[in-house]
Amino acid sequence: MTMAEDYVARRLEVSGIVQGVGFRPFVYQLAKKYHLKGDVANTSSGVTIYVEGALSNIESFSRDLAQKNPPLSCITKISVHPEAVKNTNGFTIAKSKNSTGKSALISPDVSVCDDCLRELFDPADRRYQYPFINCTNCGPRYTIIDDIPYDRPKTSMKHFKMCKRCQTEYDDPENRRFHAQPNACDVCGPHVTLYDNNRREIKTEKLIKKTLENLRLKLLDLSRKNTLLNFRETKRSIRIIEELPTDTYEKLVFSGEGMEFLPADPPEEKDQEIGLLSEQKQLLITAGADDFTNLPQLNKVRKGLTG
Ligand SMILES: [Zn+2]
Ligand SMILES: [Zn+2]
Repeated sequence: MTMAEDYVARRLEVSGIVQGVGFRPFVYQLAKKYHLKGDVANTSSGVTIYVEGALSNIESFSRDLAQKNPPLSCITKISVHPEAVKNTNGFTIAKSKNSTGKSALISPDVSVCDDCLRELFDPADRRYQYPFINCTNCGPRYTIIDDIPYDRPKTSMKHFKMCKRCQTEYDDPENRRFHAQPNACDVCGPHVTLYDNNRREIKTEKLIKKTLENLRLKLLDLSRKNTLLNFRETKRSIRIIEELPTDTYEKLVFSGEGMEFLPADPPEEKDQEIGLLSEQKQLLITAGADDFTNLPQLNKVRKGLTG
């Protein structure tokens, strides 16, 4: 195979928040746009890209990579290295590669996007009212990640094998859920179960509505804005995020009678971002939740699910 003189290969190492934010699909589309061959893979320090093609196309590709990166990503560094041309076929998303050191930055959880919101409330959609709906542009990240590189087997989603339809979305480069690691649906994903205080399951169609009723809407009466119930893995059950003045922390304590807010120490650094449940009956409420979630958007969800 004869190659034009300017047919070259480059390896690009990208650091920053580049995992779990639709970065590899973005690279894939970009490589297609500029007729480049090669592959992209997550590493424990970010993303590594091998491309070969016309030099001018690689230059355009590199420029777009830096300037048109997905909104949830944040590039801190791109380094470009000359490589020998391998004459690969097409462009692929390769298996994650282990690199020395772990420096990839992890995306925070991202509140539901408008596309998912539309599906969530569309009775004809297969994810109608499915509380764990997500896509490449939204959904849990930090909460579910056990280790990097960020791949499904290294998240709490490893326990859920995708059904055929979810897998098809996951494998389709044109799909919004292409390589969305938490991809799930009512058939194959996690579910919400409601228990009473004797650990007996409460059977109801309207779980979230029922939960709020059980809590007697007490939370919502506290004249704090943006109270939110966020249902997570059953082990951690419920997280409550409130907008509180910065540096104010409270814990919600359940007792036989009900619940009350008590002053709390600031959370440990590692817990702060996700407000982990430290004990079964105590919820840690983190301030500054705006940094990690979009509360108005989540309020739309709450209205939709409880209305
Ligand atoms: Zn989404
Ligand atoms: Zn599914």
